[in-house]
Amino acid sequence: MIVGAQWGDEGKGKIVDLLAQEADVVCRYQGGPNAGHTIIADGETWKIRQIPSGVLSGKVSVIGAGCVVDPQVFLDEIDHLESRGVSTEPVRLSGNAHLIMPWHVAIDRASERRLGKLQIGTTRRGIGPAYADKASRIGIRVQDVLDAKILREKIEVALAEKNVWLERVYEVEPFELEEVAGAYAEHASRLAPHIADTSLLVDESLRDGKHVIFEGAQGTLLDLDHGTYPFVTSSNPVASGGATGSGIGPNRLDEIVGVAKAYVTRVGEGPFPSEIEGERQAQVRELGGEYGTVTGRERRCGWLDLVALRYAVRVNGITSLALTKLDVLSAFDELPVCVGYLLPDGTETPHFPAHQSDFHHCRPVYESLPGWRAPLDDDLPGAARRYVEFVEEQLGVPVPLVGTGQERERILRAPVAR
Ligand code: GDP
Repeated sequence: MIVGAQWGDEGKGKIVDLLAQEADVVCRYQGGPNAGHTIIADGETWKIRQIPSGVLSGKVSVIGAGCVVDPQVFLDEIDHLESRGVSTEPVRLSGNAHLIMPWHVAIDRASERRLGKLQIGTTRRGIGPAYADKASRIGIRVQDVLDAKILREKIEVALAEKNVWLERVYEVEPFELEEVAGAYAEHASRLAPHIADTSLLVDESLRDGKHVIFEGAQGTLLDLDHGTYPFVTSSNPVASGGATGSGIGPNRLDEIVGVAKAYVTRVGEGPFPSEIEGERQAQVRELGGEYGTVTGRERRCGWLDLVALRYAVRVNGITSLALTKLDVLSAFDELPVCVGYLLPDGTETPHFPAHQSDFHHCRPVYESLPGWRAPLDDDLPGAARRYVEFVEEQLGVPVPLVGTGQERERILRAPVAR
């Protein structure tokens, strides 16, 4: 199980890609087409949003029941991969996954606009509204496209309500039943060969002794239940969400790899205790290329936050950590690392605050580690090794993978001698 240990964009794509080389099946279990993984392999750049990146290495690539799928994005991605010579034959889509419908996108755009200053900063791809409808039990699922009559009926029921909201509340154009039903019926024949019982597929693969990797999108602090609500995603990226979202028991997960950057980034609004003050923030952003894969938005940058990572270790059950982008920190003489939070009542804590007001008003407590000021290669400079060791000591988990550059091969295994 590979999970983001921060606010997403940790470089999970590269770690999944690496570990997928040794896997037979790669399964995504939550999220939708906002998961912009970037993978650089053999001099080519891939930006994949909906389909598991394992498809690039020919692995069985599963989109589990916990995901929401925009059929147009999915099919465009299939076409794009095929046009670049990647076979999409092993892509499997759960019939229980929910479909993003055009009104979800329209509502996402309109409601963010209405929230004004209070907006959450969603990617506006209809993901949140699709999950909301799933919970309200008026969602439309992938398997519904297999029966044109059922599909049309469900669209009709949904539109009866959605069009009222769109016109009266959001003051935007309503949707035509025939138009939407026609478009989705057309997608059906192309989706059908990919639709499968993916829970059974994963279970049988595990029983056959195959190696299955679960790939979480976003990150722990964006988890709907355990993240920094309301600035969160609408699903459960945490490891246990992987069992729910792929349809297997939690006892089938034997290793949980958290992926964290050697610093922190956050997209959109919300509190961020270790956000870097002054010009060094822009420097980290520039060096790390911290701009959204899908949206191009600037990411906010902060020093490594071990309070938040300690929390990620706890709520995911992380057994080892992959620390990415350590090379980005090579430019600095000293590296503040946040080891505790100073709460408004004057107490200091190593634990992530359970209450939002504490989190909003806490101040970071830093310990400063020396920088190394040298490019990273196969042998980490002493100070870089010390940085990794410090993380291991503070969190009590090993860091067997360290990212030292953008390319797939720029990753060190077991960089710290034990
Ligand atoms: P993901 O959604 O968690 O996969 O994260 P993104 O793909 O949005 O961001 C990861 C970005 O960091 C990509 O551009 C990667 O090529 C890049 N990246 C991953 N690992 C490293 C690393 O160790 N060093 C550097 N400099 N870049 C990396």
